[in-house]
Amino acid sequence: MPAIGFKCPNGDKVTFEQCFAGCDHQCMSLPALKATSQPHWFGKPSVTQLLAPTRIMYLQIMNDFYLNPHGSIAAMIGTSMHAIMEDNCPDGWIMEKRLEDDITSGAFDAYDATTKTLYDFKNYGAYKVSQVLGYKARWVKRTVTRGKHAGEERWEQKFEPGGVRHVHDVALQMNYYRILMGKHGYPVEKMMVQVFVRGGLDKTAKSYGVTQPTYLVPINPISDRWVRRYFEMKYKKLMDAVESGVVPEVCKPVERWNDRRCKDFCEVNELCPYYQKNYMV
Ligand code: SF4
Ligand code: SF4
Repeated sequence: MPAIGFKCPNGDKVTFEQCFAGCDHQCMSLPALKATSQPHWFGKPSVTQLLAPTRIMYLQIMNDFYLNPHGSIAAMIGTSMHAIMEDNCPDGWIMEKRLEDDITSGAFDAYDATTKTLYDFKNYGAYKVSQVLGYKARWVKRTVTRGKHAGEERWEQKFEPGGVRHVHDVALQMNYYRILMGKHGYPVEKMMVQVFVRGGLDKTAKSYGVTQPTYLVPINPISDRWVRRYFEMKYKKLMDAVESGVVPEVCKPVERWNDRRCKDFCEVNELCPYYQKNYMV
């Protein structure tokens, strides 16, 4: 079942129609509200939906639910960025094309047919960009040069290249597109993700070692068999739960972002037994 309305900042729940008809404590402009309410269901789970925690997807499919209008802004900005790229599609490129197979559907971002290169565009926060680049933290001693603490020594973290690149999700996503595209006559020989630094090059970005507003990051191929088996497993878990009506296992701590996601970002938290037990009074 779809998202049917908004959970207003004051906690009220309204249908989209009620919200669009007018409100005396408007939290966003009407075009922004309309843009955030767009459905993202194409008859079968998309590649990105299969990558999401199964319990979240199950609760979204099985229930009517309400979106946090402010929580959907990052997705809306991502969508508009993709639209700008599509408006500037170069000759010989294919962009935003939706393909499907027996278990899923997915729209790849951009394909350069000449070089057979698949591109994906992501808007990430500075910390995540640092992680994607494989920067790792090292403790260094710094002498304070100004202010009343001048001359004192402080330990601080410095992020530098040389660690493991955290590209697991985007690598799975792009490798599935690669396989899907190969079956539809678009062979992929190279994959690149272009990450844009959400929020720009502010002090926080620099503290994570991020010095450019955007980076092109190569993505390595993963075995077709492994990728297909992973997505089949996620599809089966979701469909088994939908058919049986049994709520899938609780999201893993890493998926719950140590419960930050449950408390502040999960659109279906009030329908989830884990949240009900731990955070609803
Ligand atoms: S404009 Fe915002 S506060 Fe008003 S009804 Fe819509 S979502 Fe709720
Ligand atoms: S509330 Fe937490 S555990 Fe429940 S579905 Fe949402 S993210 Fe997963």
